[in-house]
Amino acid sequence: MRELLIATKNPGKLKELQELLRPLGIGVLSLADLPPMPDIIEDGDSFAANAVKKARETSRHTGYITMADDSGLIVDALNGLPGINSARFAGDNASDADNNGKLLELLAGVEQGKRTARFVCVIAIGDKNGKVVTVEGRCEGRIDVAPKGSAGFGYDPLFIPTGHQISFAQLSSQEKHKISHRGQALNQAIPLIKQFFVEE
Ligand code: IMP
Repeated sequence: MRELLIATKNPGKLKELQELLRPLGIGVLSLADLPPMPDIIEDGDSFAANAVKKARETSRHTGYITMADDSGLIVDALNGLPGINSARFAGDNASDADNNGKLLELLAGVEQGKRTARFVCVIAIGDKNGKVVTVEGRCEGRIDVAPKGSAGFGYDPLFIPTGHQISFAQLSSQEKHKISHRGQALNQAIPLIKQFFVEE
């Protein structure tokens, strides 16, 4: 079976992708299946720059066609924060609870209609020859005044997707996947991944 390398050590992301790509006859490997490689510093100034850097460097190092993603939350009332710093919004070793606490604090007093936000996910696919393509998925919504639900991760308990009255953390993973930024980016990425294998 042909194999795609996912530039992640996150078992949740890996399992989701394995299920999506198996019907296409494409197997999925993660960095945990290969000898350790040097960490890639995510120092780009956009989601796309970071995803491209991860895909390009990992593919060059391993020889595998590689998929990498970068994602985060953009809050309009905070001029786009936390953005590319979503994972470390409240500090370098911040927990999800710390990040959510900081977000609520900064939005204290901001009225409902001005709490608009979106999740963004950029996926980059690259090969060892340096070819890279990107796709972007977005999910619009708003930041609630208190966390709700316990599924998912990150800012899920605070994010109410447009058209819903409940948070991402109150949706099942399948329901979230249908509307999420990552789900939308993946749907666009699948035909591009197939194309990389056709051209290999
Ligand atoms: P990464 O792309 O895995 O590095 O994610 C960056 C950060 O963005 C995560 O640590 C979360 O804080 C946030 N984030 C990205 N996607 C989601 C999501 O689907 N739900 C909640 N938080 C997310």
